Amino acid sequence: MFFTRGPFMEIIDTHAHLEDLENLDASIHRAEEAGVIAVITMGTDYESNRWVLEESSKHQTSKLRIYPAIGVHPWGLDASKLDVNVQFIEENVSKAIALGEIGLDYWYREARKSEEAKELQRMLFRKMLRIAEKTKKPVSIHSRGAWADCVDMTIEANIKKAVFHWFTGPLDVLEKIFDNGYYVSATPAVAYSKHLRTVIEHTPLEHLLLETDSPVLYQGTPSEPVHVLKALSGVAELKNEKLETIAEKTTENAKHFFSI
Ligand SMILES: [Zn+2]
Repeated sequence: MFFTRGPFMEIIDTHAHLEDLENLDASIHRAEEAGVIAVITMGTDYESNRWVLEESSKHQTSKLRIYPAIGVHPWGLDASKLDVNVQFIEENVSKAIALGEIGLDYWYREARKSEEAKELQRMLFRKMLRIAEKTKKPVSIHSRGAWADCVDMTIEANIKKAVFHWFTGPLDVLEKIFDNGYYVSATPAVAYSKHLRTVIEHTPLEHLLLETDSPVLYQGTPSEPVHVLKALSGVAELKNEKLETIAEKTTENAKHFFSI
């Protein structure tokens, strides 16, 4: 059977968690068939960072490259384990193309309950930003419910390249993101999420990346890198632009941002 397809577009999924995919090789195959040329896979803790650095590249192909980012996600932090995590990142950061996933989440259950949990997140985030600043690595930031603090801390840390992934915060904070030359990224939720749609409507193409955050569920369905096409079509529809225009610009942005 033959499928007709439009002009071939090259797309980059700039934020995924590939170690959590059920059948990674099949997903990679589907993504490369659809024109995904690269995926940046995020580390979230010690185990995940090891997988990202040591295993992820075994799944790449000649058409789809997998690039590692390492970090500590703000969910479920265990103060007693942080030193090991941070030390691993300091020792291995040169093997990663970015720091991520890092950030703050004030809506996470522990952070809702205690100021101490928020302070622990901030302490860790500051350390991660310091490593990024020292090594000049770009950062991929989780900022749910902590939008202003995330952006302010990133500016204070003198970070040059930051993407606020799946950003759904207020427009005044978004303005600050652009004023500092930072980026936001659109997920497949751009098709239906009111908050994300508002953000993307206000985002100039010069500051936009695409991603899936795979294997996150969108309306009950688990995602994989090929779904970056849904983010692409959602953005194109919202901005009333051709798919090719959005693909070309966001891919150029991603290559520049991650120096790939
Ligand atoms: Zn993520």
